[in-house]
Amino acid sequence: VLRLESVRKTFGRDRVVLRDVSLDVAPHTVTALIGASGSGKSTLLRCANLLEEIDDGAIFLDGEEITDPRADPDAVRRRIGVVFQSYNLFPHMTVLQNITLAPRRVLGVSREEAEARARELLGRLGLGDKAGEYPDRLSGGQQQRAAIVRALAVRPRLLLLDEITAALDPELVGEVLSVVRDLKADGMTMVLATHEMGFAREVADQVCFLDNGVVLERGTPQEVFGNPRQERTRRFLRRIV
Ligand code: ATP
Ligand code: MG
Repeated sequence: VLRLESVRKTFGRDRVVLRDVSLDVAPHTVTALIGASGSGKSTLLRCANLLEEIDDGAIFLDGEEITDPRADPDAVRRRIGVVFQSYNLFPHMTVLQNITLAPRRVLGVSREEAEARARELLGRLGLGDKAGEYPDRLSGGQQQRAAIVRALAVRPRLLLLDEITAALDPELVGEVLSVVRDLKADGMTMVLATHEMGFAREVADQVCFLDNGVVLERGTPQEVFGNPRQERTRRFLRRIV
């Protein structure tokens, strides 16, 4: 679904944030990006969604090069759902309005159809009674689930999740992770940056350990967590787990 080939990203003249990053995300799989703060996880996700321009290399979505200058960034973003750490729902819109905005404006879906799809998704994510609420009336976990519904509303090919539980109280983390579990069961392709190692181990098909902008280690959770090849990976995991 998503492929990165030798991606290089710098900020300013000499701040190299991603160097020669390659990654292959197969359909219906979950890829977990792990690594210390500042290792480049968010930048990688932002590059994949064309929020950042890469300096070298190429990124492909379903075989099509999206980093080609002729590619239409809006068309690409329509096929990729994104959820960030801070649930950025629009505060002046109800949950339902938040969710139906993109399908109606961007995809040109009718209001009835957009609302029907939104209500179906809200029900599936346990928010069936929250459609008419404003975001500030929801708990953090509910807001984050609503943000996931919003990302799903355009029927994306791929979901990018950047530390979607990092801003949540510990007791709310579980409900959001269980949504990710359900999406995986439904066959959604996802790439997630996370500090939740236990969760990465459980849900990921592929784990990538980023260190200073390099994919230092990549493999199944068993390989990366159970038997890391690199000393740096071992050190990172010892510190975290
Ligand atoms: P965290 O776990 O804290 O979220 P991360 O792995 O997501 O970290 P990034 O946010 O990708 O890390 O940042 C990687 C590096 O890029 C950091 O050193 C950061 O300071 C730098 N960086 C990110 N965005 C910019 C920017 N817009 N301008 C300059 N430097 C940036
Ligand atoms: Mg980050």
